[in-house]
Amino acid sequence: ELKLADRIKRIKPSPSTAAADRARQLREEGRDIVNLTVGEPDFDTPDSVKKDACDAIMRGETKYTAVPGILPLRKAIADRLKKTTGVDYGMNQITVSNGGKQVIFNTLMATVGKGDEVIIPAPFWVSYPDMVLACGGTPVIVPCGEETGFKLTTEALEAAITPNSRWLILNSPSNPTGAIYSAKEMKVVTDVLMRHPQVWLLTDDIYDEIVFTGEKVVSPVAVEPGLIDRTFLINGVSKTYAMTGWRIGYGAGPVALVTAINTLQSQMASCASSVSQAAAVSALTGDQGFVAEWLEVYKKRSELATSLLNKAPGLTCRASEGSFYVYPGCEGVLGKKTPDGKVIETDADFVLYILETEGVAVIAGNAYGLSPYFRISVATSEDIIADGCKRIIRACEALS
Ligand code: PLP
Repeated sequence: ELKLADRIKRIKPSPSTAAADRARQLREEGRDIVNLTVGEPDFDTPDSVKKDACDAIMRGETKYTAVPGILPLRKAIADRLKKTTGVDYGMNQITVSNGGKQVIFNTLMATVGKGDEVIIPAPFWVSYPDMVLACGGTPVIVPCGEETGFKLTTEALEAAITPNSRWLILNSPSNPTGAIYSAKEMKVVTDVLMRHPQVWLLTDDIYDEIVFTGEKVVSPVAVEPGLIDRTFLINGVSKTYAMTGWRIGYGAGPVALVTAINTLQSQMASCASSVSQAAAVSALTGDQGFVAEWLEVYKKRSELATSLLNKAPGLTCRASEGSFYVYPGCEGVLGKKTPDGKVIETDADFVLYILETEGVAVIAGNAYGLSPYFRISVATSEDIIADGCKRIIRACEALS
């Protein structure tokens, strides 16, 4: 009999991956499914990036690279970070892994163990708590309701901090809400952290180019330079450049942390794919025109989804400020009955109901730690979004 380690028994498969798999499976069974679960751009990787990756293959860049990534890539990352944060990061302060996901996992593996607490504002990206659990740490979930724009307040953050707090994880723009911390809101958070030197800040900036407000995302290290020595910035090329399958993410921060992560990576993965690293250099240093083009497309789709969902009886949908998700509330449908006489008690019940009756696949808010809500991805065409939202409206109208 297979004996599993405790660390694997503590975690579950990613709910977003599971929901996407379920939608795919139903479609394969012949059901007419509108899949609004997808967490990746529907655009193709730009041709220029693909071509540069092919050229790298032909030049023979097909071998192990340095553990933290090839120098031209770390240089391109440093140049970008200088623009977005104003901070100069040295080559020994940057590390590249197989996606932002692995950078975050490496970071927690290198720093979190039994007894360590990691503060995670909810709603959160589904992987944070499980990664902390896999490392033997304790996720401390801080609910951040819609009344505060799904953001932390001084009181909520202060109440969560203990002597065992190791990290606060921030994700702005947020998956799943699209909420973005303004400079003022970020200062609220950094002011609290300045009072608690044991708490480090992990900022997941993976959606920082997908912003609808016309303003740049503010980095905590720009708002509070006093936190530079205990902030780790996470980013990657997956979302901005439609490169999810290339698996390139990066982290930037204090040398001691990066060195520890590199030691771990040297024993675990050696390095990220050499070809993908060449592709990432091309993406970061090449023409950025399509980033702005795609942004306009996401923005229109997000507005379309928001306006349609607000027509559904029982749903309320706040405008998303960025990312490619919206996070409508479904409190108004709770307690209502489906045509089969079932009572909708939770967001998970509602999500199952719209999947079964209308074939719309979305993800229930319970996966993100804040109910009653659900997440819709707008990384799909306007026609599909409109079709999905119309089906949701019909499903809501059929409740009594
Ligand atoms: N962080 C957030 C908030 C995400 O939504 C994702 C992807 O879904 C990631 C990190 C990881 O992306 P990747 O591993 O493709 O770089």
